[in-house]
Amino acid sequence: METESSVIKEAFCQTVTRKKLRTFQVNLGKFCNMRCRHCHVDAGPERSEIMLDSVMDSVIKSLELPGLLELDITGGAPELHPRFLELMHCGIAAGLMVTVRCNLSVLLLPSQSETPAILAANRVKIIASLPCYLEKNVDSQRGEGAFRKSIAALKILNSVGYGRKVPLNLVYNPTGLNLAGNQAKLEEDYKRVLQEEYGIEFHHLFCLHNFPVGRFYEELLGSNRFHEYMQLLLDSYNPKTMEGLMCRDLVSVSWDGFLYDCDFHQMKDLPITFHGSPLRISDLTDLSQASSIQYSSHCLACMAGSGASCGGALV
Ligand code: SF4
Ligand code: SF4
Repeated sequence: METESSVIKEAFCQTVTRKKLRTFQVNLGKFCNMRCRHCHVDAGPERSEIMLDSVMDSVIKSLELPGLLELDITGGAPELHPRFLELMHCGIAAGLMVTVRCNLSVLLLPSQSETPAILAANRVKIIASLPCYLEKNVDSQRGEGAFRKSIAALKILNSVGYGRKVPLNLVYNPTGLNLAGNQAKLEEDYKRVLQEEYGIEFHHLFCLHNFPVGRFYEELLGSNRFHEYMQLLLDSYNPKTMEGLMCRDLVSVSWDGFLYDCDFHQMKDLPITFHGSPLRISDLTDLSQASSIQYSSHCLACMAGSGASCGGALV
């Protein structure tokens, strides 16, 4: 395992270089109304880390960076940040495509009653996590009642135009220790079941493997299955995924203002550096000043099977 892993690391370091920066993925913090078993952010209602005002100001300033095309807002539950809508409006004003990563149940909170209609009116793309179309699987990952809340939220989203005129994509991730299966086939199954049983429409399904980071990593360690899972990732390594790895044209911003190659590196505290020091959003002028993309063992989850990214399978 050791040798194979270093061969992959070497291939990664030679091939995975930065392209032109396209996407800012901004993580507004670890505060979330849910506490999912698989969460790589280790987010939850008890977490108090949310994006500081000074960092938010720097993020908003950086939306004008030349060549930037997309603002991808994530968390935690990003909708719960007091400046969430301001950030969204600034992204739109800067001419960016704005995406929000939504856990669905947050939309049922009284404070969020206006959010779906505001997002739809601004044609903000929603990518919503729904790890299965079966109630028991969703509830086992996300907590009792999570599936019913997700269905109720999806109905609200459909009622304001999501899944029809406004893009709504769902995210699947496996319940157990297996990798995500065939994305096109699973999308068909999701569409059939959600339409027939609940009358719900959506555009695309994105499949994501579970990353050995955060709570899923703790779970692997606790059940003594970490090495088994890493071996599965290693055995499933697919070099064709390298071309499309999201870290090549995305940069991830943390709640406290540091820059990372992706959200997973953020959770593992592997910042982008400049002359050996972690790079802050307030110091960013362009990414030519940044260190090269770092390899870590959890990168294998992006490169296993059909690959995985925030936009689903890669090949
Ligand atoms: S997986 Fe998403 S919804 Fe669940 S606790 Fe983490 S951030 Fe919140
Ligand atoms: S984990 Fe991050 S840095 Fe590693 S391959 Fe995936 S996107 Fe790139």
